[in-house]
Amino acid sequence: MNLGRENHPELRDAVRQLCGKFDSAYWQGIDEKRAYPEAFVAALTEAGWMSALIPEEYGGSGLSLTEASVIMEEVTRSGGNAGCCHGQMYNMNTLLRHGSPEQKKQYLPKIASGELRLQAMGVTEPTAGTDTTRIKTVAVRKGERYVVNGQKVWTSRLQHSELMILLARTTPLDRVAKKSDGMSIFLVDTGSKGLDVRPIRNMVNHETNQVFIDNLEIPVGNLIGEEGKGFRYILDGLNAERILIAAECIGDGYWFIDKSCAYANERVVFDRPIGKNQGIQFPIAECYMEIEAANLMRYKAASLYDQKSSCGAEANMAKHLAAKAAWEAANVCLQTHGGFGFAAEYDVERKFRETRLYLVAPISTNLILSYLAEHVLGLPRSF
Ligand SMILES: Cc1cc2nc3c(=O)[nH]c(=O)nc-3n(C[C@H](O)[C@H](O)[C@H](O)COP(=O)(O)OP(=O)(O)OC[C@H]3O[C@@H](n4cnc5c(N)ncnc54)[C@H](O)[C@@H]3O)c2cc1C
Repeated sequence: MNLGRENHPELRDAVRQLCGKFDSAYWQGIDEKRAYPEAFVAALTEAGWMSALIPEEYGGSGLSLTEASVIMEEVTRSGGNAGCCHGQMYNMNTLLRHGSPEQKKQYLPKIASGELRLQAMGVTEPTAGTDTTRIKTVAVRKGERYVVNGQKVWTSRLQHSELMILLARTTPLDRVAKKSDGMSIFLVDTGSKGLDVRPIRNMVNHETNQVFIDNLEIPVGNLIGEEGKGFRYILDGLNAERILIAAECIGDGYWFIDKSCAYANERVVFDRPIGKNQGIQFPIAECYMEIEAANLMRYKAASLYDQKSSCGAEANMAKHLAAKAAWEAANVCLQTHGGFGFAAEYDVERKFRETRLYLVAPISTNLILSYLAEHVLGLPRSF
């Protein structure tokens, strides 16, 4: 079915055509082996879709965030997993918005051509959790270098990335006026001495790691923006991240709806297609409605972002509504398939696992609700 595909038909067709070369057998094989979809990411890079948001002057295609979100939506909608590649789009944005002219000139053309990948961002730490201001990784300036010590967790795609954006404290927490001050971000060569990377086997086939940082040396020139303002830069990039993830969830949602309808039409039990039963139809119809509604918020948020208007609330709402709608659609799709939903060859159980992640990462549901309560509804701060 072609539901929800009214916008950007040519872009969609081109991305779909590429994704069509990576069929369900490809993704099943990758999932079974817990491998990284190298061939898929290479094809996406070669076609220029990975550099969609890089301005033309740096060799990218200079597309809008709305268009970039359509690319990610088509990846998940084709049955693929965009978790292998979405990081580059929003990590690169941090460099684009806050990097120096020299850094942009040095790195962006190589990222656009695929020579370098900037797919990893090390923010989360095991003890700080969502309270990022409590991170313990510290960077101390020694002459022309920063020396970094600490630990990160859930640093994704690090083993398939030449560069990583790393958040570290440069001024101790007890010496800053505001707890969000005193953190800085750095562009790190992932092959550097001092990084010990240990993969975390997880529910999804998502290349993610623990990273132990022991006297990692970073040249001063790799500091992004001003020292001490890193947390602000990270927050600044979150709206784009939320909108792209929302679009991926929308793609998942339509994939589950398509699969549910196809199976409900074809599976015959008690001498009739199961889709004739309203007990099967209604949950699918309800999920479809929720995906459509979340999609409106995704386009609203993306359009505000593209107009350079403030979009924090909309980006958070889009991500939350889309992740929830996709997860509900996943559940209904599994139920519609009965026992066969559990068989890997139907892809439903894999996509079910993949879409579940987005209620937790890159930001968990409660934190979005708390943002809206405090910043939009004016309710008292709870932490
Ligand atoms: C597969 C995967 C990939 C990831 N990739 C990356 C990555 O590339 N880079 C990176 O930096 N991070 C990454 N993350 C980390 C991810 O962003 C965090 O897991 C997520 O933000 C939640 O943080 P936490 O796990 O520390 O949960 P915690 O902060 O420990 O919270 C646990 C639970 O308690 C809730 N909670 C906490 N405080 C409150 C409160 N005050 N009120 C109500 N509820 C609360 C949370 O919502 C959550 O449900 C990844 C995680 C996963 C699972």
